[in-house]
Amino acid sequence: MALGLRAQGFAGRVTLVGEERHAPYERPPLSKTLIAAPDEPKPPTIVDAARLGELGIAQIKGVAAISIERRERRIRLADGRRPAFDRLVLATGARARKLTLPGVERSLTLRTFEDSLAIRARLDGAERVVIVGGGFIGLELAAGARLLGCESLFSKHMRACFDARRRRRSPRPLRRDTSARA
Ligand SMILES: Cc1cc2nc3c(=O)[nH]c(=O)nc-3n(C[C@H](O)[C@H](O)[C@H](O)COP(=O)(O)OP(=O)(O)OC[C@H]3O[C@@H](n4cnc5c(N)ncnc54)[C@H](O)[C@@H]3O)c2cc1C
Repeated sequence: MALGLRAQGFAGRVTLVGEERHAPYERPPLSKTLIAAPDEPKPPTIVDAARLGELGIAQIKGVAAISIERRERRIRLADGRRPAFDRLVLATGARARKLTLPGVERSLTLRTFEDSLAIRARLDGAERVVIVGGGFIGLELAAGARLLGCESLFSKHMRACFDARRRRRSPRPLRRDTSARA
């Protein structure tokens, strides 16, 4: 959105507020290349601070927006700052759904760069991995775990998801890649 505004000639002030500490980054590599990458991974940055500076896009990182003060046209941040706005875009994305099962406290979910590092560290030396969630991200994680020499376990239900996905119209390179590795 911020880049698009600039590309379309918007010359006003643009501020990105995000509770993550990084420059904007891509999430797809988190479940693909990062999991089994040989070197210490870095966030797969979309646009770095220097480029944002050139474009005149300010970034407030590592702090959550906690309320919208509509009358004053300000948002309130967790650290007490209250940036003003004329127009406000909410682009807060999604978060991983936590299961409410006994014993689930030690399980990990994958949404952020830090989640990916935590999974990578947990896979180091692991032999058997259970993945709850047989969608693309689960399958990609299973493939990454296999590359690291782990045995990945799927329940029958998840196996059924996998088979169904193979039959359906997933993008061809992804289907071939995921099927072969998983
Ligand atoms: C592991 C993984 C692999 C994926 N692989 C693919 C793929 O191969 N192909 C594909 O098409 N899609 C893929 N996706 C999905 C894709 O990444 C998402 O569709 C995309 O991230 C959505 O972008 P977004 O900007 O809407 O939200 P997000 O990327 O979720 O960004 C929202 C941001 O808002 C921040 N935020 C939320 N609430 C607040 C608040 N109150 N204050 C401040 N900041 C806040 C969040 O911290 C986050 O940084 C993948 C996702 C994941 C997690």
